[in-house]
Amino acid sequence: MRLENALLRTRAQIHGIQQHVRQVMGTSDAAIFDAQLLMLDDPVLLEEVAGYVKREKTNVEHAFSVVAARYLAVLSGINDEYLRERVADMRDVTARVLHNLLSHEDPADLSRLQEPCILVTYDLTPSQTAVLDKRMVLGFATDQGSKTSHAAILARSLELPAVTGLQDASQRLKSGQYALLDGFNGLLVIDPTEQTLYEYGQLAHRRLAVEDRLREVRDLPAVTLDGTRVTLSANVGKPEETRDVQKYGAEGVGLFRTEYLFLNRESLPSEEEQFQAYHQVALALQPQPVIIRTLDLGGDKLLAHHQAPSEHNPFLGWRAIRICLQERDLFRAQLRAILRASAVGNVKMMYPMISSLEELNQANAVLEQCRQELRAEGQLFAENLETGIMMEIPAAVMIADALAKRVSFFSIGTNDLIQYSLAVDRMNPKIAHLYEPTHPAVLRLIKTTVDAAHARGIWVGVCGEMAGDPVLVPLLLGLGADELSAAPAVVPAVKFLVRHLKLTEARELAGFAMQCDSGAEILKRAESLAQTVAPGLWTNTGNSRE
Ligand code: PEP
Ligand code: MG
Repeated sequence: MRLENALLRTRAQIHGIQQHVRQVMGTSDAAIFDAQLLMLDDPVLLEEVAGYVKREKTNVEHAFSVVAARYLAVLSGINDEYLRERVADMRDVTARVLHNLLSHEDPADLSRLQEPCILVTYDLTPSQTAVLDKRMVLGFATDQGSKTSHAAILARSLELPAVTGLQDASQRLKSGQYALLDGFNGLLVIDPTEQTLYEYGQLAHRRLAVEDRLREVRDLPAVTLDGTRVTLSANVGKPEETRDVQKYGAEGVGLFRTEYLFLNRESLPSEEEQFQAYHQVALALQPQPVIIRTLDLGGDKLLAHHQAPSEHNPFLGWRAIRICLQERDLFRAQLRAILRASAVGNVKMMYPMISSLEELNQANAVLEQCRQELRAEGQLFAENLETGIMMEIPAAVMIADALAKRVSFFSIGTNDLIQYSLAVDRMNPKIAHLYEPTHPAVLRLIKTTVDAAHARGIWVGVCGEMAGDPVLVPLLLGLGADELSAAPAVVPAVKFLVRHLKLTEARELAGFAMQCDSGAEILKRAESLAQTVAPGLWTNTGNSRE
């Protein structure tokens, strides 16, 4: 039974890969997987495994690997080109089946949780986080990762408390042990005392009072005390999150991370499926805008059937627009789906990880080709689809003036901009202290971007996690950001802050930051301003970074 399940799972995975290859490379390349599928259906192999288990009284994993090794030895020894080539297929299939056998009770299969708990684990991938059962997972703590790893970003969307980068928490806790998870302050308290529980109970009360205040601003505009209107949008990853955009009073979607439509599945979503997803969000939110970001796979977001070799530096590697410009069919399917959705709602689009003019031009050439195809097919789309780029690579900032001539807007991805400008891996907890949003270099890059955009008359948004941190919001506004986009649940806090702030104060803070050499001092000033203008936003635990 276990072997059959593993074979079923393996078959589904290979079908998924085959479909992917068929889409991006054509049918003949996809046919190579037929040999692997045939091996899985070989009744002699299965009988031999069953016989071995019976005879030798071993587990099925061992039996399978012994029988497979025997097949491999025979195949390798045959003097026939075709059969010798099947050795690699056999190896591949064997490894896959063994992996599926060994992980049949995958501890990362979080759908099997029986009771509500805090999940403490070495790491969580974005795909695992995306399917967490909110009824069972009260929150999670990981040894790896940081505030801007995608698992943490998703936790904010799921409204789950999460603490990342705890280094050895998963080793220090045993299943069943009591713990208290404080997502606001990044703490995991093991076996909390009565006194600690009491104090957190008080804190929870104060938090409810803050939430009452936030509910009051939900439907009010995000306008500063001195009358500047700021656009506050939300970041989403799935069409279902549209509800939260409305629930928390965001003005549309500033970043639709489309890659989540591609995770946790064996095959790629078709153009039609993508169209339905984009169409659904655009329709629900119109006339508010929805900015759809083209695929940003890679980095920590990998496909279930990801076939690319593992990379030494995935965040510097085959990621985002780089994948799309190589896998044209994949890119075209998405661009066509986005264009078609633009016929319905207020859709805008942006490319992630742009580092040069050439990349932008190439992406736009594919877009133009898609437009022509759709026209020829008589399909509707918005002729004037606004197209922007994410500014998240310092090289792009340095040529922002040239890029600004060719796009309708910039959206600053601070998560990556910080990682790339400070050379600090956003996933690595050992160097998390160096990941500093208020580093003068980061703020100067933001200022350069804004100035280049405004000089060309285009607007600039910020959609990295900085935009959802009320302490940092005055800095961003003072530097000239026109739009902020954050996880839906943090939008009310940002709005509350904006409504209690004067733009003149924000500009003063930004002015200070531009001539200050110390990120720590800038942060101190930013905290002090946020505390002063919006004391009602904090529960006063001594830590303002809620
Ligand atoms: C960013 O880099 O700031 C961003 C918004 O994109 P992502 O977090 O998906 O890389
Ligand atoms: Mg990014």
